Amino acid sequence: MGEGGGQILRSSLALSLHLQHPIHLVNIRRNRRPPGLRRQHLTCVLAAAELSHAKVSGAEIGSTEIQFKPGPLHPGRYVFDIGTAGSTTLLLQTVLPPLLLATSPSHLTIKGGTHNPFAPPFDFLQQVLLPQLQKMGADVRLRLKRWGFYPKGGGVIEVEIGPVVRLHPIELMERGELLTLEANAIVASLPRHIAERELTVLQHRLGIPHGQTKIEEIRESGIGNVVTVTVHCQAMTELFTGFGQRGKCAEEVANELANEVAGYLSANVPVGPYLADQLLIPLALAGKGCFLTMAPTRHTLTNIRVIESFLPLKFDIIQHNQSQWRIDLSHQ
Ligand code: ATP
Repeated sequence: MGEGGGQILRSSLALSLHLQHPIHLVNIRRNRRPPGLRRQHLTCVLAAAELSHAKVSGAEIGSTEIQFKPGPLHPGRYVFDIGTAGSTTLLLQTVLPPLLLATSPSHLTIKGGTHNPFAPPFDFLQQVLLPQLQKMGADVRLRLKRWGFYPKGGGVIEVEIGPVVRLHPIELMERGELLTLEANAIVASLPRHIAERELTVLQHRLGIPHGQTKIEEIRESGIGNVVTVTVHCQAMTELFTGFGQRGKCAEEVANELANEVAGYLSANVPVGPYLADQLLIPLALAGKGCFLTMAPTRHTLTNIRVIESFLPLKFDIIQHNQSQWRIDLSHQ
């Protein structure tokens, strides 16, 4: 159903762990090439199994069907090594929600990619998702120990979770006045001029002053280029990312990123499209909440369907105008 990808797997595993509810997933990533579980998805299944001493069948690369029967959650100290540049932050999407509400603290070390295309970069978790979770009462700290870029990986993040009894609902309906825009270009074992050219485009396109730009040169973590724009508003922070690729010029990476930021700014909403899909499970755990966002993505719609099939909750999606949608969670 929905976008049919890894999102269904991660969200289902997270809710299965939280509710101790067995699941049977079929047609996993059936329309992807190659279909079925890739290493990154498999690591999510295995991590979830380790945390809950689950009985699992079908947990292998390429598998399009799994059965997963979790036992009680065992918070604690864990090291999860994805073994490739698979995203550490996507693994965290699977295990963090249940651990937020566990009975004792956890300390996770996750090895893999920390700045992967098509996944939340570490900075997004740190600067955007985490503050919202903290507003809901969650006690989480994140540390980037080592950068990891696709395809080499080798990154490390550490996560400390002090559990809480419940998460509080939040309402994110306004972002408040725009305070600052910041751009940060990272080059790992690549020439500095790539970062300089990206920042020049962003300064020009978004009017970011020179003093609000930064270049980070990294030597020890393979090859990579990532550029972020952080939007600090009175009520919240959003962050957008461009990923450098071989064969794609620095100006193109920065221009695409500038388009994304400009789209968010002109929509005049607090919650961007990535935060929207990532807020849904925390809101579901709180049992209530609402936010104003841009057109719901397929990931958001998919997550809503997954959550509604596990819990007696209902998300209403109401279009306010051309660029604003309200997502409202209530009990059914
Ligand atoms: P598949 O290969 O099956 O499509 P996947 O497991 O690789 O799936 P997705 O299902 O595409 O991954 O999920 C991507 C997740 O990463 C979503 O939660 C999305 O919000 C998040 N994400 C992607 N890009 C960004 C970004 N630039 N900033 C923040 N979050 C992002």
